[in-house]
Amino acid sequence: MNQEVPFPAEPLPEPGADPRAAPQRGAFCLALFEHAPVGMALVRGTRFELVNACFETLFGWPAGTLDGQGVEAVWLSAKERERVLAGVRQRLARGEAIDLELQMRHRDGRALWCRLRARALPDGAAVWIVEDVDSQHRERLELERRVHERSEALASANAQLRREMEDRQSAEDLVRHLADHDPLTGLPNRHLLAYRLEQAIAAAQGQDGGVAVLFMDLDRFKAINDSLGHGTGDRLLQAVAERVRQCLRPGDTVARLGGAEFVMVLPAVAAPGEAAQLASKLIRAVSQPCQIGELELRATPSLGISLYPEHGDNPDALIAKASVAMYQAKAQGRRNYLFFSGQADGASSQRLLLEHELYRALEHNQLELLYQPRYALDGEAFVACEALLRWQHPSRGAIGPAEFVPLAEDSGLIVQIGEWVLRETCRQIRRWQDRGLDVRPVSINLSARQFHSLELISMIRSVLAETGVPPRLLEVEITETTLMHNTDETQVTLGQLSALGIKISIDDFGTGYSSLAYLKRFPVDVLKIDRSFVREIVPGTEDALIVGAIIGLARSLRLRVVAEGVETREQAEFLRREGCDEGQGFLFGQPLAAAELEPLLRRAR
Ligand code: C2E
Ligand code: MG
Ligand code: MG
Repeated sequence: MNQEVPFPAEPLPEPGADPRAAPQRGAFCLALFEHAPVGMALVRGTRFELVNACFETLFGWPAGTLDGQGVEAVWLSAKERERVLAGVRQRLARGEAIDLELQMRHRDGRALWCRLRARALPDGAAVWIVEDVDSQHRERLELERRVHERSEALASANAQLRREMEDRQSAEDLVRHLADHDPLTGLPNRHLLAYRLEQAIAAAQGQDGGVAVLFMDLDRFKAINDSLGHGTGDRLLQAVAERVRQCLRPGDTVARLGGAEFVMVLPAVAAPGEAAQLASKLIRAVSQPCQIGELELRATPSLGISLYPEHGDNPDALIAKASVAMYQAKAQGRRNYLFFSGQADGASSQRLLLEHELYRALEHNQLELLYQPRYALDGEAFVACEALLRWQHPSRGAIGPAEFVPLAEDSGLIVQIGEWVLRETCRQIRRWQDRGLDVRPVSINLSARQFHSLELISMIRSVLAETGVPPRLLEVEITETTLMHNTDETQVTLGQLSALGIKISIDDFGTGYSSLAYLKRFPVDVLKIDRSFVREIVPGTEDALIVGAIIGLARSLRLRVVAEGVETREQAEFLRREGCDEGQGFLFGQPLAAAELEPLLRRAR
């Protein structure tokens, strides 16, 4: 209540008077009206006929200034007034009381939230009762806003939580998938393969049934990868994976072990013939040409098959035996399948295992070359070196070629290994050249099988072209025995090598059967006297005579002579006196890693 507002002129009735009795009633009503703690107004038409003090205070008008004014004084706008009235006009006309909350206008122009209750009087005037609910309204709005905000935050937290849960779930799924699958092809990996195979074995045990394991490898995949790049190799593997998948029945498993190795498990196999049938189907499907970008590639597979229960009762044994059979299939000419043949004894299964590991050694970069220098015996200048192979076996350490080259020779793997030796040697020569070193010719050993392989010449040609190594920096060493086989063919191959500009050495000379006539016919450049002769040289002995004779023979054929296994000064001195050109052996140096040889190449310069 506004203290400024003076009490109405009309005095209150005397205490004790009956307020309902006229004439006091009018005075009572007026007092009630004037002192009511809510704003009250009597409106006639669009004018205030009478407003109380609270009403004026509420809207900021000085006492007595609103009486007689137009109602627009407290409406925000005529339009707003019309809008509000439109909603309530009928109810007012029916004599009902209305009760609204709306914004009205303070005298200073600001909008004020008010509660307006109104009713029309029978004579057409209207009574308004107005309360200031601005602060309550704002509080409520604020509360609503906060509730809204809070519930939005809750909703978003909820959504976030749900997303996180989904994310975590899919991450978990992904991790689980990655742990069990090969990322390149999406096929199960070795881990899942072992699990499925174990299940298949357990199921077969219950039903007296069989399980077949097919081990498949793509022939020459490494060559494709090396020459066309890993991207192409990867796409080929993906295409092959898809083809294999299409050959299988529901319930069969195909896994990729790495490289181009795939393993299929056929549960519930009634007869070996089923596995053989699938093997033929796979060979046909996989051998179809594959379009990879611009290239049309053909990957031929070799397969080995092992059977439960005949060949083993656990995943490791079955997979190992299928892989052994696969290597045998490869050795028999590739694009082929073979069943594991169970009669292998202890020694030969040890051999098969080593063979299996040797195959993997190529893919897992376990092979390494050492280089042993050759020196001129007169001035002791470093003139050439020989590349010698080592296998860094993961558990057995370094294995020398004497132990595994014959194995690789038997299985046919030597062809691939030999290709690796040639490529690695040429790449090394290239690296030395790129570093500005004075590179000496490097000789590589060719095994009999490699020498007689039909692809030898084209392979050497393409590696030389690929690495840009001049042929004069390459020598090949062939044993006498190799030379004396298929002499017509040998003559042709040697002629081609020589035409390429590659020098030819006869290795381990004196240990095999040599025919002088052939030596004359073949375009040979170097004789390497086997170290068994060199070891025993004592002047005047038979070995000394043989060595002298070999040197004499070589000189008359205009061949360079190299003595192998020179370990002492005396040996070197004897050889020099007899006219031997070069020596190779521990006296001059052990086989060295490429980096260790570099100081020698600098000095040669
Ligand atoms: P090789 O071609 O006659 O090689 C010479 C062998 O004699 C090497 O043995 C070498 O380490 C060893 N040696 C060198 N100097 C001395 C010495 O002063 N005293 C003694 N006691 N030995 C010496 P390594 O490296 O074990 O090679 C053995 C054979 O393996 C080689 O005989 C060669 O026939 C074969 N081989 C080595 N690397 C390859 C290869 O890349 N491919 C093929 N197909 N065969 C290879
Ligand atoms: Mg040699
Ligand atoms: Mg030798």
